[in-house]
Amino acid sequence: MVGDNMDEQKIPCADFAIIGGSGTLSSNFPNKFDDVKILAENLFFTTPYGKSPAMKIFEVDGRKVLTCKMHGWRSGVTRADSSRQIFWLFREAGVKNILSEGGVGTVNRLLNPRDVVIPDDYLDLSVRKDVQLDGRYLLIMRQALCPALRKNLLDAAKKFYDGRIFERGIYAVTDGRHFESPAEIAMLKGHADIVGQSLAPEVYLAREIGACYANLSFVVNYGEGLFNWSHELMKNIFFDDAELLGKILLETIRNVEGEKKCSCAELRKETLLKEVYV
Ligand SMILES: [Zn+2]
Repeated sequence: MVGDNMDEQKIPCADFAIIGGSGTLSSNFPNKFDDVKILAENLFFTTPYGKSPAMKIFEVDGRKVLTCKMHGWRSGVTRADSSRQIFWLFREAGVKNILSEGGVGTVNRLLNPRDVVIPDDYLDLSVRKDVQLDGRYLLIMRQALCPALRKNLLDAAKKFYDGRIFERGIYAVTDGRHFESPAEIAMLKGHADIVGQSLAPEVYLAREIGACYANLSFVVNYGEGLFNWSHELMKNIFFDDAELLGKILLETIRNVEGEKKCSCAELRKETLLKEVYV
């Protein structure tokens, strides 16, 4: 039976999480997929950083997945706190694999709207760098985007998408909510391929809770000053491609092997600054 309870909930166990972004927002993900069983939705949890955004838990191929819409962002709550709430929750739920998705702009002149990019590195230009849960760990950001999970995403994207798919790319994170200026895009040239607002702090928080993390980026506009782009096209992508992105994310979860073959967990070390943080 599908639960629908506005009260605060006991935290369920889940191995997987999907942080929804602009790509799936228009589709009430993943309710329209036949092979998905919605276990409960509209769940709220008490966290040390405030009440969580509405969460949903579902099952695909026997795997339990926690998900929320639009990175947990909502008015009246900072983006930093939204991220802390959902990652605290993921840690309590025992989440070990996290996928996120979102629309991005281009920096690399070779990219076009509707290209898929699975980033392998990032450049954080946001001012949200101090976002952490408890600071217990030294986080080494080598291979911050899990190579194994990225491969799962790539295989799933190839199965369902016949457009261009790039298996690596550098994601520059800006603060938003506004887009970047032509001068900012010009500055990023040669340093990043795509630009967006949501890869950090999620990438640090995933490492802090010891989970693997990968991102599916979908190009929705050209970076300012590169080429002209239309809001109409961005709107069409927003509504037309949500189902495709949902399919790719679900297939990725089916593809994840039971035994980890990556070194993500080893890149989190106990902090040496114990007097400060512990
Ligand atoms: Zn990993």
